[in-house]
Amino acid sequence: MFRWILRGEMNKVMAGKYIGAHVSAAGGVENAPENAYQIGATAFALFTKNQRQWHAPPLTETGIATFKSRCQKYGYEPWQILPHDSYLINLGHPEEAALQKSRDAFLDEIQRCEQLGLDRLNFHPGSHLNQISEKQCLAIIAESINLTLEKTKGVTAVIENTAGQGTNLGYTFPQLQEIIDQVEDKSRVGVCIDTAHAYSAGYDIRTKEGFEMVFKEFEEVIGFNYLKGMHLNDSKKVFASKVDRHDSLGKGTLGMEVFTCIMKDNRFDGIPLILETPNDELWAEEIQILKNL
Ligand SMILES: [Zn+2]
Ligand SMILES: [Zn+2]
Repeated sequence: MFRWILRGEMNKVMAGKYIGAHVSAAGGVENAPENAYQIGATAFALFTKNQRQWHAPPLTETGIATFKSRCQKYGYEPWQILPHDSYLINLGHPEEAALQKSRDAFLDEIQRCEQLGLDRLNFHPGSHLNQISEKQCLAIIAESINLTLEKTKGVTAVIENTAGQGTNLGYTFPQLQEIIDQVEDKSRVGVCIDTAHAYSAGYDIRTKEGFEMVFKEFEEVIGFNYLKGMHLNDSKKVFASKVDRHDSLGKGTLGMEVFTCIMKDNRFDGIPLILETPNDELWAEEIQILKNL
C-alpha cells in the first residue's frame, strides 16, 4: 500500500516539463546544481570533467557527497539531470588504438555518472572519418555501447542526434535506430533529440505541421519510450545546412513555433529539456519563456 502511494506520488512529480540549461561545473561538479537553481531551472546538464581533455582527476568523495546533497537540497532527481560526455570521444573510430582510447574515456564518463548517482549520459554517436562505411561505423558504435554497459550498471547510454557535420553519424532517425537495434540491453539505451541538430540535418520542424510529421516519424522509427532528454536550441545556420551552430531561442532561423509545440506536448514530459544556447545571460529568461509557452 505504502509502496503504491509512493509510486503514485512519483508519477505525479514526473508529469510536466523539466527545463534547464547546460550549466557550468567550473570548480567541481558540486557547483552545477547551484548554478542551475540560480537560473530557475528544474533540470540541468553538465560535464563531469573537462570536455576538451582526455584525462581528468577522479571525482573526490567530498565532491560526490556535496553534489548529491545539493541536488537533494534544490530538488534535482537523477531523471532531471543530463550529463554530457567529452567532445573528444569517437565511439565509432575506424582505427583500433584511437577507438580503444575513446572506449576507455567513455567508460570513465559512465563510471563518473554511477558515482554521482546519475542515471543517464548524453553523447554524440561517432564519426567514420571517411575510412569505413556508415554501416560499419554504426556497428562499431553499438559495440562500444555494449562493452561499456557490460561493465557498468544503472546508467543509460543516451545517443544524441547530430547535425551531420563532417563525417558525424546519427543525423537521421534510422541511423539512431540502427545503433539501438544492435545494443543488447535495450533498457539502458536511449536518445536525446537536439532541435538545432535535427533542423540542420534536414528535419523541418519550423511549423506545427512539420513538427507533427517529424515526431510521427520519430515515433515510428525509434519510439518515444527511448526519448531520455531534449536539447532546445535555435540555429544560426539555414535549414538543412549540416552545420552545427546553436543560437538563442527565437534569435536564429528555426524560430519559436517548435518550442511552443514541445511545451504543449505531453510526450516531452518527465525528461530533462536542456538549453545549450550560446548566451548564458539569457538562460533564466529563456527558461521563463519556455515555461510560459
Ligand atoms: Zn551534444
Ligand atoms: Zn545538443
